[in-house]
Amino acid sequence: MTVVQKYGGTSVGSVERLRNVARRVAARAVDGEQIAVVVSAMGKTTDELLTLAREVNPRPPRRETDLLMATGEMVSSALLAMALVEMGCPAVALTGAQAGVFTDNTFGRARIRGIDTWRIEEEFAEGHVVVVAGFQGQSPQGDYATLGRGGSDTSAVALGAALKARQVEIYTDVQGIYTTDPRIEPQARCLRDIASEEMLEAAQQGAGVMHPRAVELGLLYDIPILVASSQAEFGSGGGTLIRGKVHMEPENRVRTIALDRDVASVTLRNVPDRPGIASQLFGPLADAGISVDTIVQNASELQLTDLTFTVTKDDWERTQEISKSLSAELGAANVLFDHDLVKVSLIGTGMQSGPGYAATMFRSLSDAGINIELITTSEIRITCLVRADRGEEAVRALHSAFQLDEDI
Ligand code: ASP
Ligand code: MG
Repeated sequence: MTVVQKYGGTSVGSVERLRNVARRVAARAVDGEQIAVVVSAMGKTTDELLTLAREVNPRPPRRETDLLMATGEMVSSALLAMALVEMGCPAVALTGAQAGVFTDNTFGRARIRGIDTWRIEEEFAEGHVVVVAGFQGQSPQGDYATLGRGGSDTSAVALGAALKARQVEIYTDVQGIYTTDPRIEPQARCLRDIASEEMLEAAQQGAGVMHPRAVELGLLYDIPILVASSQAEFGSGGGTLIRGKVHMEPENRVRTIALDRDVASVTLRNVPDRPGIASQLFGPLADAGISVDTIVQNASELQLTDLTFTVTKDDWERTQEISKSLSAELGAANVLFDHDLVKVSLIGTGMQSGPGYAATMFRSLSDAGINIELITTSEIRITCLVRADRGEEAVRALHSAFQLDEDI
């Protein structure tokens, strides 16, 4: 059987920590399992590389930025393989390209198109642990392309799918997935398990522990993902298992509360309400590779409507440029920009069958005197945008309103 393990930047942040990871991997390797280990870059390496790039060129070319960033994971993978060999555990390090990870050519946020596992299988057959540089792959032109910040999780789950692994294990600097960020709410509890769909919503809404696309792949290929601390003893039952179905039906159907600070909004005021407006606006944004999150169109009055949408802060500058030039074209009265917002989301699959969650959410925010700027929902999520300085307070109010601090 094959297991894919992934170790994040903090877990491989120093020589001592790398050795600790090597010890863990070596201990698992004697159990007769084939192990592929995906690593992130050491500590804050990726940020440091980006800072360097911007020192040289404030707007560094994307292709070269990817080439530069990809080196971070090469360093950690090579060092981990060396540490394993030193411990008597045969291992090889492979770059993303050497491991057969093929991507498209959207530098900075490339998508994996396929993985050709022959090289990894060959190394397994030789009895090697395979250490793969996460976060990267090879574009159709043969260039290095990276998968977006935090993308090593996605590398790990994609490899798990390609290798038909029994489980993907994500080792990180936290104990698992919590009812909310424990740095915001110290009463937060670590969940034993969570449904893939819930985790996907949480990751998309800023839960931070895992890259959303990794969760999406796990859901698609039905691979259980264990998220656990890289300090915890393996098999100690710690961590959170993300899986297709969570058997137990909890009383409290809100599973987790996410806070997303990476949000900015654009409002076009008094846009003529006629067919084609939305496509005229969102077409060019999509062409620029900007993904729009929440979209709200108000009821129109005198054939005029307000259109609000949100994007991530990364896309903020380009979104402003594009919407400014389009607003004149569309005949909008003016455009308003706001980046002083956060998204607070309640997530839980059980919410779809029980009424009253939204009402309780709105009531507890109102009791705390927190104004709701925008509301969006999915079947298993309710999201409110609130002022940035009230976000953490909102999370704490909701955590207690839904009694998430109590063990079920
Ligand atoms: N090193 C990359 C980053 O910092 C990828 C990862 O850590 O998953 O975003
Ligand atoms: Mg990470």
